[in-house]
Amino acid sequence: MNETPPLPRVRAEIDLAAVRHNVRALRDRAPRSQLMAVVKSDAYGHGAVPCARAALEAGATWLGTATPEEAFALREAGIDARIMCWLWTPGGPWRRAVDEGIDVGVSGMWALQEVRAAARAAGRPARVQLKADTGLGRNGCQPADWPELVGAALAAQAEGTVQVTGVWSHFACADEPGHPSIQAQLALFRDMVGHAEKEGLEPEVRHIANSPATLTLPESHFDLVRTGLGVYGVSPAPELGTPAQLGLRPAMTLRASVALVKAVPAGHGVSYGHHHVTEGETRLALIPVGYADGVPRHASGRGPVLVGGAMRTVAGRVAMDQFVVEVGSDPVRAGDEAVLFGPGDAGEPTAEDWARASDTIAYEIVTRIGGRVPRVYLNA
Ligand SMILES: *Cc1c(COP(=O)(O)O)cnc(C)c1O
Repeated sequence: MNETPPLPRVRAEIDLAAVRHNVRALRDRAPRSQLMAVVKSDAYGHGAVPCARAALEAGATWLGTATPEEAFALREAGIDARIMCWLWTPGGPWRRAVDEGIDVGVSGMWALQEVRAAARAAGRPARVQLKADTGLGRNGCQPADWPELVGAALAAQAEGTVQVTGVWSHFACADEPGHPSIQAQLALFRDMVGHAEKEGLEPEVRHIANSPATLTLPESHFDLVRTGLGVYGVSPAPELGTPAQLGLRPAMTLRASVALVKAVPAGHGVSYGHHHVTEGETRLALIPVGYADGVPRHASGRGPVLVGGAMRTVAGRVAMDQFVVEVGSDPVRAGDEAVLFGPGDAGEPTAEDWARASDTIAYEIVTRIGGRVPRVYLNA
């Protein structure tokens, strides 16, 4: 007789065929634009290098990261595609970015001055993408400061230290189609690009669209779309539809092994603080994952999990390493599988369900799956 091998405590399966499918689906939505797969924060918890490779195989031509260190890790893995990173602080590793041919987002004069000095030292021009704050109010250059930044970039380009490869911006409310800020940002973006071009910059790529804009707003696609969450098959917002409605396939499935099942009497408190008390005699199943693994403590008493073919709810608090569900008299045993989330087509919850149960967004659910959870890659 074949014995099934025991399940590990927990694992996150990453379906790279789903990643490739999603990249192709997103490219179909923006057929005249290049696609940048955003792989920041370890590809939203999915694993940066395997996901970057899968995205490039499916036609992405750029990779995007927040930090320079994330960009360097891709180069170290031997990836020679165009890579852009945008989250810099003074004294950052500009020289290495120049040496490794990484495009850098520049939002202000201090950054332009630092990258220019690094390029001078390196003896080759830095690839710079000027970021406009068209209304997000986060990173990016304010319209009032734009002429100065564009002028300084032109001067640096003339001296050969900078090549302006892009002009770009980021939306505040693209996940709320029809929000008035969207058209206002688009109009300002066109103005700010227009100014840069009138002054003599010839950016290779102009871009503003994230996943929700790529899915809902063709006029925002310009030369390139920067898609993150969609690459992993997760819906950016419930109002936009489920992944299936958007033509996307969730790539991550989080599975755990039930660690213990035991009978308890009525009136038994469950987990820290006793926020759950059993109503009658029942059985409890211990799921050996907790907030250290990225299961939100906010989902205490609410998070859904598929155990023994039925949907259960987290009973009481999520602890650092474990939580409990009631399984009653169902034939659940230690070593059975618990599925926290996945694509949803085998009856399991989705990342969107966990987002709802923890008052957050699905971005946070997948991205916070912790370093203690091994990733297993399928369909490489
Ligand atoms: C994270 C990020 C993206 C990707 O956003 P998604 O909504 O995940 O597609 C694009 N651009 C910037 C600047 C980002 O920080």
